[in-house]
Parts: sequence; structure tokens; C-alpha cells
Amino acid sequence: MKPIPQHWSGQRVSILGLARSGLALARVLRGQGSQVLLSDQRAASELGDLPAQAQQLGAEVEMAGHSRRLLDCDVLIISPGVSLYAPVVQEALQRGVVVAGEVEIAYQMCPRPLLAVTGTNGKSTSCSLLQAALGSRGRLAGNIGVPLVSEVTSDLQGVDFVVAEISSFQLETVHSFRPKLAMLTNITADHLDRHRTMEEYVQAKARLFAYQQAGDWAIFNADDPWAVQVGEWVARGQLPVWPHYPPPGSGGAQVLHYSVEKRVDLGAWLEDGWFWAHLPGGQAEPILRWDFANLPGPHNLSNALATCLAALCVATPRSDIEGAFAGYQRMHHRLEEVGQLGGVRFIDDSKATNVSSVESALQTYAEPIVLIAGGRDKGLDLEALGDVIARHCHALVGIGEAGPVIASYAQKHGLQAHHMATTMEEAVQLAHSLAPSPGVVLLSPACTSFDMFRNAEHRGDEFAASAQRLIAGSPPGAGQREER
Ligand code: ADP
Repeated sequence: MKPIPQHWSGQRVSILGLARSGLALARVLRGQGSQVLLSDQRAASELGDLPAQAQQLGAEVEMAGHSRRLLDCDVLIISPGVSLYAPVVQEALQRGVVVAGEVEIAYQMCPRPLLAVTGTNGKSTSCSLLQAALGSRGRLAGNIGVPLVSEVTSDLQGVDFVVAEISSFQLETVHSFRPKLAMLTNITADHLDRHRTMEEYVQAKARLFAYQQAGDWAIFNADDPWAVQVGEWVARGQLPVWPHYPPPGSGGAQVLHYSVEKRVDLGAWLEDGWFWAHLPGGQAEPILRWDFANLPGPHNLSNALATCLAALCVATPRSDIEGAFAGYQRMHHRLEEVGQLGGVRFIDDSKATNVSSVESALQTYAEPIVLIAGGRDKGLDLEALGDVIARHCHALVGIGEAGPVIASYAQKHGLQAHHMATTMEEAVQLAHSLAPSPGVVLLSPACTSFDMFRNAEHRGDEFAASAQRLIAGSPPGAGQREER
């Protein structure tokens, strides 16, 4: 594959997938004088005002399929939602077309060092904690908010670092992406409908480190077997080759680990309720006492430790890290308490879309839990989920396409109380009627939302609205929730 152009004026750029990041990129590249064609297989009726926005930028738009012109370009940019296995992308790769993603282009335009986080779970939480610790020195971007390309081309005066949340999908198409600091929180089974095998998913994640060099930081969770594996590849300078893309460099980044279970050689760990750190050239020292109610559950302890280590690497004062933890506002749809009724708390964890995030949620509460789970399966081990549910839950209310399968596995592993609901309203009412007091009604679905909802946010909002209506004792549609 040829290199990515250094100058964009006059380049013919095709963007596959008309969504947020594609549109952001079109805006930036049009501003630099590229000819841009945006192509989406969805019909105009499914795309809202996105085509009009693209046309206003002076980009061409094609919908309801891809024309032959799509591949007649200098660079093909694919949206994170488009698989490398899509036939049109495969054809482009076979023909030697340069195939990249928004994140690579953004990296090449970024005037500041990047602090990048990937992992199956905990990316958003860790990135937002790190941003909070950095304050005005940092700018948060990527999956979590504004597309990376928009942020790195905005005014970055006074900003020292860009904090970027990066998914495995985005890493598939990097050519030279080199974060100053790269961190891997964990890798557990997820997205196997897209990556096909666990090995391929891990190799995609490992690409966060592929082009790092001496002087960079590479941080791994020592409590997670796959993260340890990737850390070993990086330490040996032997990252796997990714077909069609430039081979990984020989490495040289400083490898650090963090662990809530054991002391590590270089990095950070939990000991007697304190975070300790040992950075190269320094001594092991206690950093802060772990006591932050806004970060509940063992997974948030791990996220906070990871963040603390990353923040120390870029010389953040301890008091700023402590302040970030103490003042942390939990993000919507991640263990978010949305109401209480008769001693029962309603918790929206709609962003939990794999087995390990559900398990983390179930380990967070001491009260009996009635779980609402199900939706569209993305190839996860639902038997393992059933086992986790049976071990931790008082009862299960299944929803969506995968609800009955999850319920049958939970029953197989010994859970007596399992029911099905056809709407979120029904699920919330049923779950509340099954919950002892004190107790928890937890939406932590382990699946994607697309069989019943627009997205995970919509699902969480419906859960919260249903809980509010139940609390208000009013019929559906009568009670309005406050806008969050
Ligand atoms: P991501 O950005 O990787 O999806 P989030 O921080 O948004 O991660 O959290 C998504 C879901 O995963 C939430 O349900 C959250 O409670 C859970 N979660 C967060 N951190 C972890 C972790 N380290 N291990 C397991 N689950 C986690």
C-alpha cells in the first residue's frame, strides 16, 4: 500500500460511511482543498440531514449503494462501522488503494502528543478520568465525544496533550499512528461478529502500540491475561503483522504495568488501600489513598489505577489526580443511578455490552440484584453470561432477541427466577416487583440495543424514563423526566 498523502490539496478522497467521523473528516479535508466523495449503502431516508450537511461542505454524496467511482481515488477512508471484510474494502485492498481511517489522518494532523487508551471495557471512564486529572493541559477526543480529527484541528493553545479513546475498529486501519502514551485496559470477548476470532481482536488492539518508539510509554493491565500478552509482544519488539498495512516498528517504548492484585516491577499497584507507583529512574512510593465513592466496583478501581499511572507518566501533580477522582461525575449509562422506589435503586448500565462489563456491574452492589439483560447478540459466550447471572442475581428479566437464550443458560446454571418482557416499560415494572428491599434493579444488558432501540443511549434513556414513571405512579407517557 502506498503512503498516505502529506498534503491534501487536490487529492481525491472517498469516504465510506456517512456518519459522525466521516462528516468531520470531510469538513477538514474540504477545508484543505481535497475533492471528497461520501458514500453510504443506506438510503437517504435513513440518513437524516447528514447528506445535506455533506453537500453544504461541497462534498459529493452517493447513497443506497457504492458506485465504481468510489475506488477511483487517492485515498479511501472507511468509517469505524465498516468492516475490513466488506467486499468493497477487500476489493480496494486487493487493488492497492490506500485504505485508512479517520484516526490515522487525525494523528498525522495532530500538533500535540497523543495519550491514547484502548481496551474492551473502561476506555471512556479512564479517558475522562485522565482528562479530569490533566485539566486544561489535556483535550479529550475520539470515540468519547468530538471526533479526533475535529479536535486536533481546533485551537489547541495552552493544551499539552490530546487524550484519545480508540476502539479496535479504528485501529484496523492505522498506518503510522504513534501515541506518546498508549494504554490497554483489558481484552475480553467482544465484537467477535466483526473480528471473527479472539486472536484477531487482540491483534487489532495491539496495533495501538505498533508504531511507538523509544521515548513513548506503553501501559498494560497486569491483571488481564491478554493485556499481559500484548505487553510481552511490545517488550520483545515483536508485534504481529497486520496484512496490507505497514509492519510494526521494532518497538522501544517504555513498558509499564498496573495491578490491583499484586505489586509490579515498574508501574502502579494497590497495596493496603493505597496506590503505589514506581516509575523508571525513581523509587517506589505511595501516591494516594483509595477512597472514592464516585468510582464504585472493582473495575473502577482498576480504571482509576490505570489513570493514575498514565497521569504520573506525564508529570501530573498527585493533588490533581486526587482531585479528579474525588470530583468525578460518573458518565451516563455506566452504573448511573436514575431513581429509587421503596428501597430499590434503579441503575442504568446500558453501556455494558459484553460479559465482563456485566460481571463487573454485578460485583459492585451488596444488595440483591434483579438484572435486565438481553438485546442483539454479537457472538458472545451467552452460556458464560448465564453462569455469571446465576451466581450473582436474585432474578433475571430477559429482553430482546437474546433474552430467552440468556434466561435458559441462567436457568441451566441454577437461577430459578427468570422472566421475559417485551418492552422496557414492562421489564422495569416486572423487575421492580421481583426486587427485595433493599435491592437493585440493574439494566446491564450484555448485548447491543439495535433490535429494540436506536442505540445504547436510547435504551438507557428508556430504562430511566420507565423507572421515573413507575416512581411517579403515573401511566406511560404521562410523566416527563428531566432532561439529563
Ligand atoms: P468503554 O469506553 O471501553 O466501553 P466505559 O468506561 O464506557 O468503557 O464502560 C462501559 C461499560 O463497561 C460500563 O458498563 C462500565 O461499568 C463497564 N466497565 C468500565 N470499566 C470496566 C473495566 N475495567 N472492566 C470491566 N467493565 C468495565
